[in-house]
Amino acid sequence: MVVNSVHWFRKGLRLHDNPALQEALSGADTVRCVYVLDPWFAGAANVGINRWRFLLESLEDLDNSLKKLNSRLFVVRGQPTEVFPRLFKEWNVTRLTFEYDPEPYGKERDGAIIKMAQEFGVETVVRNSHTLYNLDRIIEMNNNNPPLTFKRFQTIVSRLELPRRPLASVSQQQMNQCLGKISDNHDQLYSIPSLEELGFRTEGLPPAVWRGGESEALDRLSRYLDKNVWVANTRVKTCSLYASPTGLSPYLRFGCLSCRMLYYNLREIYMKVLRRSSPPLSLYGQLLWREFFYTAATNNPNFDRMEGNPICVQIPWDQNPEALAKWAEGRTGFPWIDAIMTQLRQEGWIHHRARHAVACFLTRGDLWISWESGMKVFEELLLDADWSVNGGSWMWLSCSAFFQQFFHCYCPVGFGRRTDPSGDYIRRYIPILKDFPNRYIYEPWNAPESLQKAANCVVGVDYPKPMINHAEGSRLNIERMKQVYQQLSHYRGLSLLASVPTIQEEAEPPMTDESQTSSGPGTVKFSSSDVENVFKRSKLRLFPPVSQILLPEFSPTSKQPSA
Ligand SMILES: Cc1cc2nc3c(=O)[nH]c(=O)nc-3n(C[C@H](O)[C@H](O)[C@H](O)COP(=O)(O)OP(=O)(O)OC[C@H]3O[C@@H](n4cnc5c(N)ncnc54)[C@H](O)[C@@H]3O)c2cc1C
Repeated sequence: MVVNSVHWFRKGLRLHDNPALQEALSGADTVRCVYVLDPWFAGAANVGINRWRFLLESLEDLDNSLKKLNSRLFVVRGQPTEVFPRLFKEWNVTRLTFEYDPEPYGKERDGAIIKMAQEFGVETVVRNSHTLYNLDRIIEMNNNNPPLTFKRFQTIVSRLELPRRPLASVSQQQMNQCLGKISDNHDQLYSIPSLEELGFRTEGLPPAVWRGGESEALDRLSRYLDKNVWVANTRVKTCSLYASPTGLSPYLRFGCLSCRMLYYNLREIYMKVLRRSSPPLSLYGQLLWREFFYTAATNNPNFDRMEGNPICVQIPWDQNPEALAKWAEGRTGFPWIDAIMTQLRQEGWIHHRARHAVACFLTRGDLWISWESGMKVFEELLLDADWSVNGGSWMWLSCSAFFQQFFHCYCPVGFGRRTDPSGDYIRRYIPILKDFPNRYIYEPWNAPESLQKAANCVVGVDYPKPMINHAEGSRLNIERMKQVYQQLSHYRGLSLLASVPTIQEEAEPPMTDESQTSSGPGTVKFSSSDVENVFKRSKLRLFPPVSQILLPEFSPTSKQPSA
């Protein structure tokens, strides 16, 4: 029987360690590599230009790699449900392969395609390679619930067999066996779209800081391993805040880099350098956090929202579109926050510590605005924006899930100053502040007027006044959060408050392994009616909305805490 395979790329944009692609090649007479993209839908999606550019570069890189193997990438315009019936007939397809997508939306979409393929008599082969482990197996081992503490997650993972070893890249020899005909008008029919075709205006677009694609990902991996970034959690230095040539998250997000490749490289180097047989789980800490959030999200279609989300504490956040816009556009009047949001908008990546700072500021720290709003802004702007990791991290940071002891706030002045005492990071992203001396760069409103004039930047005229009194706002919010947890604790008997400190400004959670402060193993679930009851009983409404203490007219001479 003739085997005509189509491999459907979605994430997993690579030729190395691609088990579904290997299945497409196995014993096939022809193989076509397809990416389905609907330009209309693309323009309407909540995805910023930097992420689109990253995706298109990744597709170009894939096409170039396939060209070297005398094949090509077919970018087919349309929706998968419309495109596949046409391709099945046109190419006489007998086998469709793709990588398993663990996200609820992806599972639903793939279920529909599998059903449709069956109707056309097309065999489907799906393989897991976006995560290290089979997430369903983890859930099964936790009494059919996702583990909701990292400690519990690690315990389960430690009982699992090691992840499967990464597969080699597709070889010329393999491809030679199943080269389909590439038509002369291939570029006309199946070319990679431009940003303009997707509806973006590109004049004045600065060059990309992060280049998409598998080739770049593999270069970065070798730099990452050379630099021994993995050896220890080194202190965050100023330079860590900038785009790093060893940063990997966008490449893992799009699957330009296989997480198993990273895992086994780390493992091998560890064993070689430290001459130990079995590395501790902590070596893979960051990668395991990714798995943790994927596991928590895989069966929860409401993971990205508060309502109807069984793991999310229902918190009466304020609605304040104006304050949200100031945060999102980097106009809060706090240089540390504004610099981070500017870097995010311009380049598409910010450091983990910076994500903590701005997420805390928006939610439980200062503005008391829902994590969902912040998550959506990250979703648009981050190159590595990932439904599961982003949603999970925002719930975490806003004290909405995973029940960590997170009852302290980052100070938008002190936290930045400790990370980058000279303030060079701020000067780079908020150049209007460049002539402020180090002493005032994090709190320019406290600089004497003469100094502001000498620096050519008068606060309130050339740069905004701080939008909130941080000391007051964060104190109020800590009290509100305390009440939320008091009510939950009272209602569910969880003793969650045993460790709630009073006001503990600026205590820093560990940046990498928060598990040590985990509130204990097991699965804690709240039904929406539990939560409703909690709020019926709660006295949360005694507090004024944070909007009432925002400071539109904040006087530049008033003192903000400088911590
Ligand atoms: C509010 C908030 C939102 C976030 N949204 C995302 C997101 O959408 N996508 C995303 O990949 N990461 C997200 N993170 C996690 C983390 O900040 C980034 O993964 C990390 O900064 C990427 O930098 P790196 O590649 O240098 O990571 P490294 O430190 O080199 O880690 C290697 C890889 O491990 C994974 N990883 C690292 N830290 C975490 C973490 N805390 N949780 C889960 N996975 C992790 C990433 O895939 C990363 O590339 C978010 C964090 C916060 C606080």
